[in-house]
Amino acid sequence: MENLYYRERNLKEVKTQIKKVIDYNGKTGILLKENIFFPGGGGQISDSGYITGVDKNNNEIKVKVINVLEDLKFGIVVLIENIGEIDIDAPVKCTVDWDRREDGMQQHTGQHVLSGCFFKIFQRNTKGLHIGKELSQLDIEGEFTDDMVKEIEEYANNIIQEGIDIKNYIIDDELRKKNITRRPLPDTKEEIRVLEIPNLDINACCGVHCYNTRDLRMIKIKRFYRHKGSTRFEYLVGQRAVKYVLERENVFERVLNNFNCDEKNIENAIHNLNNKKDELYEKNRYSSLKYIELFSNEIINSSKINKDNIYIVYKIFEGEKNWLLADIAKYITENYKAIVLFANKADGFVDIKLQASKKLTKEHKYINLGEDFKNKSKLVDAKGGGSAFMAQGMCENQKNIDNFLDSIYHIYIEK
Ligand SMILES: [Zn+2]
Repeated sequence: MENLYYRERNLKEVKTQIKKVIDYNGKTGILLKENIFFPGGGGQISDSGYITGVDKNNNEIKVKVINVLEDLKFGIVVLIENIGEIDIDAPVKCTVDWDRREDGMQQHTGQHVLSGCFFKIFQRNTKGLHIGKELSQLDIEGEFTDDMVKEIEEYANNIIQEGIDIKNYIIDDELRKKNITRRPLPDTKEEIRVLEIPNLDINACCGVHCYNTRDLRMIKIKRFYRHKGSTRFEYLVGQRAVKYVLERENVFERVLNNFNCDEKNIENAIHNLNNKKDELYEKNRYSSLKYIELFSNEIINSSKINKDNIYIVYKIFEGEKNWLLADIAKYITENYKAIVLFANKADGFVDIKLQASKKLTKEHKYINLGEDFKNKSKLVDAKGGGSAFMAQGMCENQKNIDNFLDSIYHIYIEK
């Protein structure tokens, strides 16, 4: 008996008889007189669904199908949770989880359409495929540009629009000899099923396919990237594609509202915004540099030098931005022979920054700011530390912070 899932691919429900209940590796398996459940194949997932029967008192009992598989000895085995009280001599109703089946058929048939398009337009072969729960992957040989992918997507959706009848049949001996398929047939004595989308693709495949390309509704290539010498395409078909595109449309709508413009002007609006951002960045950078330069020079002018002509720069700030002080310390130490001793009082604590240039610490071995920080830290209970040319940390003691900086200042001004 031919399995119903091949003969009537859109059949969702059938009434039949249980032939036998078996123990299948510790699970309950049933063999059906006529089977509607697809065991999976050609990369497509197996069916799930329900079997509804009656008990001896004619009460309805519904059990879930947990898996369907093809066994060499038994044929198609439908695994269920438990046969329970079901009267196995009475007829049962088999119901396919149609959302799952239709989704599987769409993703799978969509893959044939895409593989056919890739070969027809660019003579590229399919290297691998994976049909996933959320999205599917197709590996195609070679590299692709955005324009090539756009062409494939458009072509595939035109194939859907054309409403081409999809043929599915068992190949006879005559046809076997003729090599009608795009890729070589499997070397087997068993019957081979062929899928044919006229003028696009013809290949051996044991999956369950849609009847017409229009059943696919839409094919969307979500993204593509290089993968192991091929290109991997993530794609969606049918309801998945429609849902994805509509959700994206909603996001796009929000973006347009944010920019207060329509789809014709959005790219221009983003371009203008980027230009504005670059311009502001440049202006800001210029002004900051000017400010840091002026401020640094002012600090230097009010600082004293030691006998080695090193400026000992000592300043306590109130609530200043630490990034600004870091830039100023950097500017001073890069442009002057200077040792910078900064403190910045914030809410309840003080940030401390001691800095010189690496070059200066090499020329004058007595400069070791890390050591100084460590030695004087107990004056204010400071936490932190650093190297010879840079030390930083913080303390909560705002009262004694000038004592702390003073003591380090005196080390260097009196050298
Ligand atoms: Zn197939």
